[in-house]
Amino acid sequence: MFKFLKDLIAPKKCYSCNEEWHFLCENCLSKMSNFEPICYICKWRSDKFEIHNNCKKNVYYDNIIILSHYKNKIISKLIKDLKFYSKKDIAEDFWYYLSELFFENEIYKNTDNYIIIYPSMWFFKKLKRWYNHSEILAKYISKKTNIKLWKKYIKKIKTTRQQSKLSKEERVLNLVNTFKIANNKVDKIDKKIFIIVDDVISTGSTINELSKILKQNWAKKIIWLIIASD
Ligand SMILES: [Zn+2]
Ligand SMILES: [Zn+2]
Repeated sequence: MFKFLKDLIAPKKCYSCNEEWHFLCENCLSKMSNFEPICYICKWRSDKFEIHNNCKKNVYYDNIIILSHYKNKIISKLIKDLKFYSKKDIAEDFWYYLSELFFENEIYKNTDNYIIIYPSMWFFKKLKRWYNHSEILAKYISKKTNIKLWKKYIKKIKTTRQQSKLSKEERVLNLVNTFKIANNKVDKIDKKIFIIVDDVISTGSTINELSKILKQNWAKKIIWLIIASD
């Protein structure tokens, strides 16, 4: 309780240099070895984080844009504090950096062609907390980019076995036909470009499955916008 109160009144301080007003200041972020644009599948260089055409076999997403490395101790601590210790303000620094990264890597003219979403907690078996940090990030990125945010766009139609207890192959099968697009959204996906905001990359099979459902409903392009990956 005391720690909670202390956090409330204490000014924000950069986790790296202790300067006030940010949890991660722009200067420290720029000094980190952040992600070079790569193709997430083969890990080789790729302009704008695009998945190479050759790497797209059974892959339904088009770009995975990543800000930083999870192995960076400061980044991983910030993410953990954001998720588990109710330091929601940390999202303020991250949404700003993620928006900037998006502008750098996607040239867009008409915001009407885009929709921002975030993975719902049960889709990724995320722990139930009183807030969803990805929702907070997505909400602010939506404001900054002027792109529409969808909250309830997907429904669960079958209970799954716990993913962590299954082998890689079983996990993929386990997810098939588990989710469906909400009725009021299903005819609004056609030709749209989706930006999916999340903190870290979950298993490849889950991000692919959400991308697949959107593509099956005629989404034009799927871009994941992620704070950190290994
Ligand atoms: Zn700093
Ligand atoms: Zn590749």
